[in-house]
Amino acid sequence: MRAVFFDFVGTLITKEGENRTHLNIIREVLKRSNTGIDAEEVWRAYEEESSKLFRELAGKEARKIRDVDTEALRRVAERYGFTVPEDFWGISLEMHARYGELFSDAVGTIKALKDLDLHVGIITDSDNDYIEAHLKALGIYDLFDSITTSEEAGYFKPHPRPFQLALEKAGVKASEAIYVGDNPLKDCVGAKNVEMLSVLLDPKGEKRELWKNCDFVVSKLNEVVEIVKGLL
Ligand code: CA
Repeated sequence: MRAVFFDFVGTLITKEGENRTHLNIIREVLKRSNTGIDAEEVWRAYEEESSKLFRELAGKEARKIRDVDTEALRRVAERYGFTVPEDFWGISLEMHARYGELFSDAVGTIKALKDLDLHVGIITDSDNDYIEAHLKALGIYDLFDSITTSEEAGYFKPHPRPFQLALEKAGVKASEAIYVGDNPLKDCVGAKNVEMLSVLLDPKGEKRELWKNCDFVVSKLNEVVEIVKGLL
């Protein structure tokens, strides 16, 4: 084993933090439109639209996340009668930096893997500026040896291209690498598509029917260190 790659949202940062971030983006957007519409209701509608769009795009040629997010918001804005601000993406970057929350064992896990002399990287469905700004805001940008995005690879997970590109950057073979993520269908299947091992982070054991797609399942991120030690 020579390299460990991580997914970002739901794996290094919590879903709860991401939800809080999105709710605050919606609050800010509604504030600019000066409407009294209920932010939580709009937020739920936005999450639904955005999940639908990203489900349709899985494995396909990548689009910029900012365009997909903006389209989801535009659909909701039409329904509720507010305006999508011109600087929506700026608001999004700012709120992610402010409300994003690392899992408490994320930094310890990354450092323990680096102490084993492993290449530690990220493979994420993301725009380049988003992931860079977010990692810097969290103070962990410098911990990673490589960052591979859908924008750069041109495809969304579970397409093989983002995984292949990450392996090329690290200079390792798929059999020498493992991928850690929270989405069995995008992360485990994507890794399997290039014959890379995978670890599913499933803190609440909610994804049991899909565990068969993954080589390992953990409930805490730091369990990855023992798994990797067993593969050295
Ligand atoms: Ca994820």
